[in-house]
Amino acid sequence: MANILVSIEHTAGKIKSPSLELLTAAKKSGMTVIGVSLGAGSKTAAAEAGKYGATKVYAFEDAALDNYNSELYFNAYKQVIDEAKPEVVLGTGSSSQKDLLPKLAATFSSGVVADATELSIANGKVTTKKPMYSGKCLATAEFVNSPIQFVSMRPNQLSVDAPADGSAEVIEKSVSGTDMRIAIKEIVKGASKRLDLTEANIIVSGGRGLKEAANFKLLEDLADVLGASVGASRAVVDAGWVPHSMQVGQTGKTVAPSLYIAAGISGAIQHLAGMSTSKVIVAINTDPEAPIFQKATYGIVGDATQVLPLLTEEFKKMLS
Ligand SMILES: Cc1cc2nc3c(=O)[nH]c(=O)nc-3n(C[C@H](O)[C@H](O)[C@H](O)COP(=O)(O)OP(=O)(O)OC[C@H]3O[C@@H](n4cnc5c(N)ncnc54)[C@H](O)[C@@H]3O)c2cc1C
Repeated sequence: MANILVSIEHTAGKIKSPSLELLTAAKKSGMTVIGVSLGAGSKTAAAEAGKYGATKVYAFEDAALDNYNSELYFNAYKQVIDEAKPEVVLGTGSSSQKDLLPKLAATFSSGVVADATELSIANGKVTTKKPMYSGKCLATAEFVNSPIQFVSMRPNQLSVDAPADGSAEVIEKSVSGTDMRIAIKEIVKGASKRLDLTEANIIVSGGRGLKEAANFKLLEDLADVLGASVGASRAVVDAGWVPHSMQVGQTGKTVAPSLYIAAGISGAIQHLAGMSTSKVIVAINTDPEAPIFQKATYGIVGDATQVLPLLTEEFKKMLS
């Protein structure tokens, strides 16, 4: 049976939701599911992957792989692909996977579909859909003359099966890093205590309609109650209200949470490009004609600086 390789991203051994989505899709493909996990906690994640259909997982339990290093990760994945000979490789939409997969695809003279939002695999043949031109159209993409089919999936697009009985053979590996041309000297983590936007299940985002930087506190208050992360439009990033790491959109992050609340954001095409595949979109805007309402599941016409505190109070009551 043909092999499908799944990238198992994890936090200290706990598999991240986008990788669980990939494992579920791989299991449904009818192919033999093989995983690869890197960094501290890899063996735990590898064992866990067995409950989601993986039969074999290559685990690189190596502290040098705790943080993304382009060359080291490439070496590890290349080793696995050489050994496992998959016909399909599924990666998540994380920025490290978006960096890694095209490099691997080029090495194996293969094609890659990045940022897919739909995936089907029949008889080992992959068909995907992916947004193009900032989401103005949806392209159907298949592979031709590609020995390996590489796909990176946007998170939150596929279902996750409940864990079942099952175990994976864990193959311990190590990676060589003696000929490195890049050395990561230091990683300065952001001060935010919240989940990165690309991993968040709920996002509350603010735009120029919030009037001033201080009003982002209203979003922070709501995010605290909902356990959400806070995003922003480019207008307010450019104005210096918040850092670029919070920007959602074409030149920011692509997100697809279960709930996206857009407060004082007009809904420019470049913003929509980064969030329009969110499951439920709630827009708060004083202008009933604002384009964001065309994408919104629910719309509130009103002043965000008044509506946000009301939502915070109501959610507090509901969730307490
Ligand atoms: C190449 C390129 C790349 C870009 N990339 C991005 C990107 O990645 N992300 C991004 O966001 N943008 C991006 N932009 C910019 C984008 O075109 C818009 O300019 C930007 O998204 C607008 O931000 P905004 O909605 O906050 O501001 P505005 O467009 O000014 O909208 C503010 C909204 O707030 C509403 N409002 C006003 N007062 C209130 C109030 N009291 N309560 C509620 N609502 C109120 C207004 O009705 C309006 O709809 C890009 C542009 C270009 C050209």
